[in-house]
Amino acid sequence: MKNVVLLGSTGSIGTSTIKVAEDLPDRIRLLGLAAGNNLDLLLAQTRKHQPAAISLTDPAKARSARDALGTATEVFCGAEGLVKLATLPAADIVLIAIVGTAGLQPALAAIRAGKDIAIASKEILVMAGETVMEEARKHGVRVLAVDSEHSAIFQCLEDKPASSVRNLWLTASGGPFRNTPREEFPNITVERALKHPSWVMGKKITIDSATLFNKGLEMIEARWLFDIEMARVKVVVHPQSVVHSMVEFVDGSIIAQLSTPDMCLPIQYALTHPERVESDRVQTNLAKLGSLTFEEPDLERFPSLGLARRAGEIGGTLPAVLNAANEVAVDAFVNRKISFLQISETVARVIGAHKVVNHPSLEEILAADAWARVEAAQ
Ligand code: NDP
Repeated sequence: MKNVVLLGSTGSIGTSTIKVAEDLPDRIRLLGLAAGNNLDLLLAQTRKHQPAAISLTDPAKARSARDALGTATEVFCGAEGLVKLATLPAADIVLIAIVGTAGLQPALAAIRAGKDIAIASKEILVMAGETVMEEARKHGVRVLAVDSEHSAIFQCLEDKPASSVRNLWLTASGGPFRNTPREEFPNITVERALKHPSWVMGKKITIDSATLFNKGLEMIEARWLFDIEMARVKVVVHPQSVVHSMVEFVDGSIIAQLSTPDMCLPIQYALTHPERVESDRVQTNLAKLGSLTFEEPDLERFPSLGLARRAGEIGGTLPAVLNAANEVAVDAFVNRKISFLQISETVARVIGAHKVVNHPSLEEILAADAWARVEAAQ
């Protein structure tokens, strides 16, 4: 039985994680649940799963939760609440599925308290991959991937060192605009960008999948998770989203992990690793799928990939700046203040203006993040 703390329980990854816990009641106990603002769903989850502690962003909502639940469950709030949950003495693993940067501090707190972490929030490794992986090594804990691409690579690598790898191949669905001509890009609406062809996800990551910034962030995430330089992290477009990613080894052999797309699979693998546990949830009929196809990504229509590669290669505070500028730009696009094309234009301008700090401390990373948000908003 693993005691799991789930940060972001009310989101897309969070609710899938709860399904996995319900599939495996003898293996997974939900010890702690944290949400942002969705009090009603968190209360329903708490009544069903009886965690020892929960947390909400807003103190007033935390008070309402206390009134509703009585004393059986401890209720925390804010950034401090996330850290309290991430360091609960009985926790074995902390799964972080909070959108944005709020997952970084609890991730580091969990590692320092000797807990394994499972990361869905790619912002954590994009912003502070060097620090997070160094701390994990120092404290002897595992950093497991929840992102389907990184889970695939992890499953294909099977602990082989980076020296045995020629390239890591991240697959990208190509998003809703894979076949849209460049001339139509200025007319892309929020509604069209929110229609992802193969995955149902939160709003931010869905827009990132349309710009391909999601793949850019994943390239940087892979660089840190698998301790491999950016030049060996490649992207190939695979519209069916069945091959979740691949490892090309130095002898030329390519190993891939396949399944119909369902986030429950990589979530379950992260929570049950190193074991494989029976589940009927994911079934893949290759004959019915017919064909699997692959294409080069178009770097002109999707400049995000080039920007992310540059940020990952230069490193230091630049990936945190790229991530923060993108977050601000996506928010502005969703609120109809800027056009689709202005997302990557904003990010390009902000990373171009940044004075990079190499091997930054956590404070320097957070300062770069704050600077980028102001700069992007301007
Ligand atoms: P959602 O928008 O669906 O959910 C976000 C979750 O984070 C919600 O539970 C939300 O709470 C919570 N939250 C937001 N801010 C805070 C905060 N300050 N404190 C505590 N909780 C907070 O996002 P997704 O589930 O889609 O994505 C989560 C992360 O996982 C992202 O980093 C994304 O890139 C990554 N990811 C997602 C995948 C997917 O398939 N969805 C695939 C791979 C990675 P509330 O709703 O209560 O406000």
